Amino acid sequence: MKVKIPVQTLVCQNFVNGEFVSGSGEKINIISPYNGQLIGEFASATPSEVNAAINSAKSAQLIWAEMPMKERTKVMFNFRSILLRDLDEITHLKCSESGKNFDEGKAGLLKGIEVLEFAIALQNMDIGGRIEVSRGVSCEYRREPIGVVANITPFNFPAMVPMWTIPIALTLGNAYIWKPSEKTPLTSMRIASALKEAGLPDGLFQVLQGGKETVEAIIDHSLVKAVGFVGSTKIAKAVYERGTKLGKRVLALGGAKNHIVLLPDANPELAGIGISDSFTGCAGQRCMAASVLLAVGDPKDTQKHIEKIVERASSLKLGTEMGAIITKAQVEFLHEAIARAEKAGAKILLDGRLAKAPAGMEEGNWIGPTIIDHVSAQTEAASVELFGPIISIIRCHDISEAMKIENNVEYGNACSVFTSSGALAEKVVKLASTGMVGVNVGVPVPREPFSFGGINASKFGHGDITGQHSLDFWSNIKKVTVKWEKQNDNNWMS
Ligand code: NAD
Repeated sequence: MKVKIPVQTLVCQNFVNGEFVSGSGEKINIISPYNGQLIGEFASATPSEVNAAINSAKSAQLIWAEMPMKERTKVMFNFRSILLRDLDEITHLKCSESGKNFDEGKAGLLKGIEVLEFAIALQNMDIGGRIEVSRGVSCEYRREPIGVVANITPFNFPAMVPMWTIPIALTLGNAYIWKPSEKTPLTSMRIASALKEAGLPDGLFQVLQGGKETVEAIIDHSLVKAVGFVGSTKIAKAVYERGTKLGKRVLALGGAKNHIVLLPDANPELAGIGISDSFTGCAGQRCMAASVLLAVGDPKDTQKHIEKIVERASSLKLGTEMGAIITKAQVEFLHEAIARAEKAGAKILLDGRLAKAPAGMEEGNWIGPTIIDHVSAQTEAASVELFGPIISIIRCHDISEAMKIENNVEYGNACSVFTSSGALAEKVVKLASTGMVGVNVGVPVPREPFSFGGINASKFGHGDITGQHSLDFWSNIKKVTVKWEKQNDNNWMS
């Protein structure tokens, strides 16, 4: 389906205490990557607006925390129905601001709804535990909300990434402060109004628009006890350091440079489609995109696989089958990176710089899929996150050489292997220096209750931001030890 791009300029606002209100800080334009048109604008939340929103979130949270989880979950049930009812409309909006194609936009929102379903199930799953630890003495653990928590999100998944945490954090009894990307803030208004319609009490979900200044005011506020962040490694590190210096719990997910190990025994059909879709999906603007292809063995044994990748990638129609790039500056950067790779001795198998913009969208930000062969492991194309539909092929003699190259990259998000041998797949799974690994899967995204997240420079902080293990990030565990009667074998421990 073709994405419907707003023709009028939408006014994007903060969402505070159940109302949409304009900020009074810096004014920012929202430009559609599809056609370069102004589709929205907003004024950032100032530090004093941030303070006021967080203070009132705390008052609302104290009442929310008193409610049993079962009652809080009712709001989440309604939230799910509303998101499904409005799925197409929200998808059009998020695609028009992020450049995704319609199917990708819809899939991202549905993935967010899966997290919501996990949160809805918590009422039946997270039942705590109690045992009699000695005669007449019992210990139990209780999960309690933290208070006010915050989340800062990137441009490339305007609904899915925030939905990793919104349902879980709210269901656990917290108030939630969200700072969306300043490049894709419009979707946040639809999520806020869906939560209001679902019956979420005012003040529990505050959306504050803006950039660095807004983020820093949120992190620094004394009532914000936990900060989740998803974005580039540079900012993830800065947010992690700022928050932890203040003694806060911070989990900051960063960038990626993902490898695919292609073995000669791989099914060419499976590998061709999986690898092509991995580096071209979301026009390469996702932290799970394949970025380096480690083609192992004699080049003539992986030739048919590479031909399949080229064939599929070159058939994609820009505008419908592959979306646009977030900014013009990023398109320029990608052009320059391809030119630098060429200069460093690589060979361009498919050149996205030659691709034409879809008709009527000439002012948009377009580049086609690009495949660069014979890339050397030391160069930019092999080690820097480019964030576009570009894959660099490095030729390797064996798996050990391939995994040495994979291990040397500072990131640690995802790695996949394409093979028909279980033993070789297991070797790659064991040696990969990443938090997520795939076998014959180009985009190894785990589903709830498994969490999403990498290691090394792809994640700062311990634990998980979503999934089963995120419960310990978004809540506190209280241990309660109880005795009601004096026992004969009393000692200091009982
Ligand atoms: P970004 O780091 O530029 O921005 C992320 C958020 O940080 C935005 O809300 C932005 O407003 C805010 N921000 C920007 N500069 C800041 C500063 N100096 N101080 C405080 N906050 C600041 O990232 P992006 O360009 O929006 O997103 C793309 C990046 O996100 C890529 O690197 C991609 O790999 C990464 N990403 C990672 C994951 C993951 O799960 N690891 C998921 C999606 C995207």
